[in-house]
Amino acid sequence: MFQRIAFIGIGLIGSSLAHIVRRDGLAGEIAVAARKQETLDAATRLGLADTVTTDPAEAAQGADIVFICTPLGAYEAVAKAIAPALKPGAIVTDVGSVKQSAIAAIKPHLPEGVHLVPGHPLAGTEHSGPESGFPELFEGRWHLLTPEDGTDPDAIAKVRAFWEKTGSKVEVMDPEHHDQVLAITSHLPHLIAYTIVDTATQLSTDLQKEVIEFSATGFRDFTRIAASDPVMWRDIFLTNREAVLEILGRFTEDLTAMQRMIRRGDGDGLEDVFSRTRAVRRSIIDAKQA
Ligand code: NAP
Repeated sequence: MFQRIAFIGIGLIGSSLAHIVRRDGLAGEIAVAARKQETLDAATRLGLADTVTTDPAEAAQGADIVFICTPLGAYEAVAKAIAPALKPGAIVTDVGSVKQSAIAAIKPHLPEGVHLVPGHPLAGTEHSGPESGFPELFEGRWHLLTPEDGTDPDAIAKVRAFWEKTGSKVEVMDPEHHDQVLAITSHLPHLIAYTIVDTATQLSTDLQKEVIEFSATGFRDFTRIAASDPVMWRDIFLTNREAVLEILGRFTEDLTAMQRMIRRGDGDGLEDVFSRTRAVRRSIIDAKQA
């Protein structure tokens, strides 16, 4: 599909994509940039890179498509670094979990004639780094593309075709809408998980020991989500601040309503809510997104 493909960042997402590029021969050459030599060594050992460098510009030089796969907080520095190296007609895409801030960080730095097609795969795990990637990660999952109006249709079509090769279902979405949807479906649940696990760790030593020892499924599931990468999630909350605060306000009101039902012994009210939520789980299973 591409002669030269560049990955800036080769953690869970970047390495999973590189595995697919290798498996299906989607590019003649894979260039990889990361900060640490040990990350680059791992990419080489896993056979995911033809060339490795700590300089993003060197990786982007001559690439037909550049995938930015770093935490969101690094985007602006990466965009500034690669801009002078991009060839005319190159495509720049990304996998960041927040789209308005991604566009704001990258777009102003790109030269004329380079196409920005931002995207976000709704796939992931709580693991990080190049060793955690696997080629099946995106199968059956959504990939949301958020190009701005006026973006070159050929560039969008190429990025779409690439993601379809990963097994993803692709949809185009407005960046602002994307950030609102993800605030409720992903960012708020992570915030709740981080909070619950932190609350448990602040309990008295005795109780804390029992929480770990007898962690029933509820708590255990939260600990998996709360083990997600701290830097990546710090950046998500800092860059999607407005949408997260808006949905957090609504959530707090609903939580207070639940608190009132429990205090008043309103069993019918609680059962109503739990029945509605059980139906949501069934629809997710039906949509094959469980
Ligand atoms: P990750 O496993 O932590 O890997 C991050 C990669 O970025 C590493 O190779 C790291 O290199 C590199 N990097 C970090 N800071 C950098 C900088 N300042 N300059 C250049 N490279 C830098 O992260 P990930 O889970 O793949 O996530 C990457 C992106 O995907 C994030 O923007 C995230 O929002 C998005 N995303 C993640 C998931 C998920 O479940 N994990 C799902 C969907 C989207 P070093 O090792 O050398 O530092």
